[in-house]
Order: sequence, then C-alpha cells, then structure tokens
Amino acid sequence: MARKFEIPSFYRSPIVSTIKAARRSADQMKRDLSPTILDLGPVRFKIARHFGFCFGVENAIEIAYRAIAENLGRRIFLLSEMIHNPQVNADLLSRGVRFLISADGRELVPFEEIGGDDVVIVPAFGTTVEIFERLEKLGVNPLRYNTTCPFVEKVWTRAQALGDRGYSIVIHGKRSHEETRATFSHAQLYAPSVVVRNLQEAKILAAFITGMRPAAEFLAEFADRHSVNFDPQVHLSRVGVVNQTTMLAEETQAISDLLRDTMRQVYGEQSLAQHFADTRDTLCYATTENQAATRALIQAGGDLALVVGGHNSSNTSHLVELLSQHCPTYFIRDPQQIEGGELIRHLRLDTKEVTETRGWLPKKTGPTEILVTAGASCPDRLIEEILLIVAQIFGAQQRLQSAVESFELRLRSHE
Ligand code: SF4
Repeated sequence: MARKFEIPSFYRSPIVSTIKAARRSADQMKRDLSPTILDLGPVRFKIARHFGFCFGVENAIEIAYRAIAENLGRRIFLLSEMIHNPQVNADLLSRGVRFLISADGRELVPFEEIGGDDVVIVPAFGTTVEIFERLEKLGVNPLRYNTTCPFVEKVWTRAQALGDRGYSIVIHGKRSHEETRATFSHAQLYAPSVVVRNLQEAKILAAFITGMRPAAEFLAEFADRHSVNFDPQVHLSRVGVVNQTTMLAEETQAISDLLRDTMRQVYGEQSLAQHFADTRDTLCYATTENQAATRALIQAGGDLALVVGGHNSSNTSHLVELLSQHCPTYFIRDPQQIEGGELIRHLRLDTKEVTETRGWLPKKTGPTEILVTAGASCPDRLIEEILLIVAQIFGAQQRLQSAVESFELRLRSHE
C-alpha cells in the first residue's frame, strides 16, 4: 500500500480525492490511462488519470511542516523554493520560514549569519555538495530536515555507478534548475560531467565526439556546463546519460539514441558497450506517469486544455508542451487566473510571459470538452477550485456534485 503522508488538509480536495480513489480502486495496477470523464451537460471535463502531488512532494511538505511544528521560536530557512508551487512556498513563508537562496542561486541571507541554532530545510530537488558542506561547517545539520526526493538521490546513485565503471556523465537537464545544479555537483564527484539542455545541445556534443567540431571549441561551447578539467578528447570517448527527473520522455530517449548512434559511428558496433553505457533513463515515476496520462488525454481529444502548476515547474511545462501541439492550452497557476468565460491569464512558454486571452472558451452548440491536468507539485485543492469555477461558468455546479457522488458510489462498490 502506498505511504500516506501527513500534509495540511487545505492542500487536499474532497472532489479530486474521491475521483482519484475511485480510479485507484478500480485499477490498482495503474494499467488504465484513459482520462476520467465528468460529463456535466454543456461542459465535459476529461481529467488526466495521473496528476498532482507526487511521493517526493508530499514527503517534502510533511517534513517542512514538521520542521515548523518542532522548532517554534527558532529561525527556519528553506535553502530555496521547496518545490515549484507558489501556494505551498507562500504558505511556508507566511509561517515565518525564509528563503536562503533564490531560484537562480543568489544568496538572499548571507550564510555567515546562519548558525547551529537555526533550522535549514533542504528542498525536494536536493542541493549541491558545496552547500551541504557549508551548512555543516556553520553547525547546521542539513540531514535533519532533508526533503531531497529519493528519486533525485537515485539519479546521483546512477551517476556514481557510471563513474565507477569509468564512464563520463552526460546530464540531460536544465543547467539553472535546482535539481540539475545539485545533480551536476554530485556527478562531478564521481566522473567528468557535462550538462546538455536538449537534443540540439546533444547534437553539438555529438559533433565533438565525432571530431566534426575541434576539441578547442568545447570549453567555450559548454562553458559553466562542464566539470573542472574536462578534456573532451579523453572524457567524451566513454559516456553514460542521466536525466533531470522531470524531462520530456521523448527528448530523453532521442538524446540517448543520438549518443549511442554517435559512439557506434565512431567506434563500431563491436566496441559500443565500451563507449556508451546502455542504461535506462532516470525520469521519476511521476514524470513518466503524468506524461503518459497526458498522451492519453491528447488521444481522447478536447476543445482546449487547462494545465495547472507553478510557472517555473519543469514537469508541468512539459505537460503544456505536449498538449499545446494538439489544442489551445492554458498554463495557469491558480483559479484566480480565470475571470469567467471571458478572460484567462496564462503563461506562454515561448515568451515566458503571462498573457491574457479573451474569449478562451469556444462558442459551440454542443458540449465544450476541456482537458485538465496538473504538475507533480500542484495541490488537488487548486484543481477542485478550477473545476468548480468552470462548472459555474456553464451553470453546471449541481451536475458536478452529482458526477462526484457517482464516483463515491463506485468507490463504495469496490470496498
Ligand atoms: S517530480 Fe519526481 S523527482 Fe520530483 S519530487 Fe516528485 S517524485 Fe520526486
């Protein structure tokens, strides 16, 4: 049975919990990825089979609130955003917790001001070896409230295993993302490491492997994304790949295939295993499930999609990328970004700006079909509020209630 975490009830949602529990009890092996359909007459919601708080996020929230409860009167710091969800971070800040480092790595509170009486919470993304050691030197025990997700630690373990076998490490991730900064820091302990953001950068790396690009250009091309003393002529002859846990599965696969093919081209099939470590990706289960459920949403089809999550959330933005190739997709942070059927405020991934779209609901004679999903750091309560707001726009609140009751009945019939 899955572990139950103690998290504040205001993150939970009676509606979403009921739907999730009914789906879980009817499909315990998680084989059915088809969306949950809530047919409310004029509006039909298709809700992804998997979305919302993952194991690592619930674990982090439980630890953070425990840290607050156990340390009344003491200063409590979060190394950086604990997860990429503004509501969760804001609630922690409202309880007196302070950030030590900004999302881009700047010190917000000088480390010299931190001492043994202070509490420091390590976020779910983990942190760098350097920061860990600095905290220890200051008398802070960073392991006491360490919320690093076990799936991130698994990436570090994989990096170590690759290093032990003599492979250099190619990290597929966003260099500035907290998790990739932490993984890069850990990976360098075990082997020469380099970060690639996407397939395009992996192709540049491949050009250095084949010799199409001169090694002399490597350090400039991958400036601040390679470990110290990285020698492309030596260290790119034997590589293995690890991923930031939240990357897009297709891209991850494409990068792995590209580097494998490149090594095959340079060294031949017979020697391939000597030069490329054939390992599985290190995406976490939540990323894999949420992206698979999103593909099932796309297959089910709809007039538009609502994706809910922090605008700096990597895993959520990948769901947006997938959906936006198929229908108008609105990446919203919270229900306040919906102003009736007339206006929605949402993040555009291409410009990274919040934009306003008027008339976001199509004028149709038949039911409007809305695909709904959320990132791994989005509280179910936000999804509930969004369902309620949209149902209200269509005058279908009562039907939403009835639809949820039918899930309650289904749940009871499975008990
Ligand atoms: S998204 Fe994955 S790696 Fe990140 S906290 Fe959740 S389970 Fe852990």
